[in-house]
Amino acid sequence: MKKIFMIITLSLGTLAFSTVNAVVSILPQKTFLEKIGGDKVDVSVMVKVGNSPHTYEPKPSQMKDISRANIYFSIGVEFEKVWLPKFKNQNKKMKIVDMSQNISKHKKDPHIWTAPQKVKIIAKNILDKLINIDAKNQTYYEANYQNFIATIEQTDKKIQNILNSIPANSKFMVFHPAWGYFAKQYNLIQLPIEIDGKNPKPKELIWLINEAKKQNVKSVFTAPEFSDKIAKQIAKEVGVPVVKISPLNPKWSENLQNLAKAIAGD
Ligand code: ZN
Repeated sequence: MKKIFMIITLSLGTLAFSTVNAVVSILPQKTFLEKIGGDKVDVSVMVKVGNSPHTYEPKPSQMKDISRANIYFSIGVEFEKVWLPKFKNQNKKMKIVDMSQNISKHKKDPHIWTAPQKVKIIAKNILDKLINIDAKNQTYYEANYQNFIATIEQTDKKIQNILNSIPANSKFMVFHPAWGYFAKQYNLIQLPIEIDGKNPKPKELIWLINEAKKQNVKSVFTAPEFSDKIAKQIAKEVGVPVVKISPLNPKWSENLQNLAKAIAGD
């Protein structure tokens, strides 16, 4: 009996060491982390589908995920400011590392993962942190990292091809300004409807409608995390469709290609 108990304890011990228990803030981070961590990393996500990381509050059950975690990957989204210190309190042994390290940010814009260029830096950050916490799987992580970099580069080329059909500095209209880094990388201009997290005033609304007509926007983008009431109103006035696309979609590569297609009016 004692022997069996010992075997169980030993195998549980190995299990606990062979897997990195990680928590991330948003779904695209889970995608990136799993690409590099593969089956050595177990990832749970704070902000579930349909929620916004600008206003999120973790559930009590998610605090249990925090208790079990070895590492938390932050990315600089809004709810982290209040919650990271609470997570640290909940689990003092958990490392908190920053996926957005070495990335230059636009003022007040946390949506860095919408630009393939920036995701390359995110990938390198993930690789470094994983090797740091689990050095014995370094070769495995490095191979996965190389594959992921290749995927990012392919994604970038596909997006460039799609956007070749429209002139540089083309404008696209969005409710929530989540695509600033994407716009910058591909020489596009994002026209946001929401200003500093608030709905436009009637005067601003009229300006937006005129601007959308003048700039020949092909659609008005909105995300499932937000009300699409105003986006619908503008789209109707301009005579273009409302396209729902979330910056938090876990299918990162396809999602960006779909955005590019919709901007190009494909
Ligand atoms: Zn956002």
